[in-house]
Amino acid sequence: MFTPPLVTRFAPSPTGLLHLGHAFSAVLGHALARQSGGQWLLRLEDIDITRCRPEFTQAIADDLGWLGLACDGPALIQTSRRHAHDAALARLVAMGVTYPCFCTRADIAAAATAPHGATPAYPGTCRRLPAGEAWQRAQAQPHAVRLNAADAARLTGPLHWEEAGLGPVPADPQIAGDVVLARKDIGVGYMLAAVADDAFQQVTDIVRGLDLFDSTPTQRLLQALLGLPTPRYHHHRLLLAADGRRLAKRDQAETLRALRESGVEGPRLAQQLAAIGPKGPDLHIDPR
Ligand code: GLU
Repeated sequence: MFTPPLVTRFAPSPTGLLHLGHAFSAVLGHALARQSGGQWLLRLEDIDITRCRPEFTQAIADDLGWLGLACDGPALIQTSRRHAHDAALARLVAMGVTYPCFCTRADIAAAATAPHGATPAYPGTCRRLPAGEAWQRAQAQPHAVRLNAADAARLTGPLHWEEAGLGPVPADPQIAGDVVLARKDIGVGYMLAAVADDAFQQVTDIVRGLDLFDSTPTQRLLQALLGLPTPRYHHHRLLLAADGRRLAKRDQAETLRALRESGVEGPRLAQQLAAIGPKGPDLHIDPR
């Protein structure tokens, strides 16, 4: 059967060293693209300038080189797309599906512990401010911009996305709720930047861990609002640390650099990861 060439991407944030889970995503995305004669793109999600470091960008290049994975063309540096992220945000604001949020982290934490049943990601405090007043206040006061998920979903009607091996999955944006589209400190946010850049890079298939599954309904909603194409999604199982926890960037012992320094061979590890397969229970592997 003929498969059209697919475009996949690996989109790490240079905020720490990559771990085995990143390598797993990269290997699976790379294989999917290569099997179809398509492209495997790299995007450096460096919008969080408070946490990104040039040495981590270099480490990503070193790790991918060690694994034997070569991306097609130069990496897209997400901060270079700021004008496009701002334009997308302005469109959503003009559509009336956003609101400014003045809450501090402490406000949100306090509200979220209030006893009101299932706790939404954000309790919606600022959604209830009168819109005119809130936007006026926003001219003078630092604020985030949030998606009004309910209003936005009413505008688009029911949505779904295509999940490989599963078929159509209904996209319920209330799962992530009123996400931040533009952070108070950096003026932009992951959800919107990722959606805008997936479209810009003409990504047909998104390969990423199941930890991002709950972001997909919101991203699908943003695609619909902005008139962008919807990629197919391949959420894969997660790799675990020896103690059964999810791997995290802060676990220094589990980084790809640590594996390299302990003598593990990159291409062999890449083969081992490819052989695991994307679906099934989360699992721990020890490549040493
Ligand atoms: N930058 C995100 C991360 O490192 C990846 C987001 C995505 O694949 O959509 O977790």
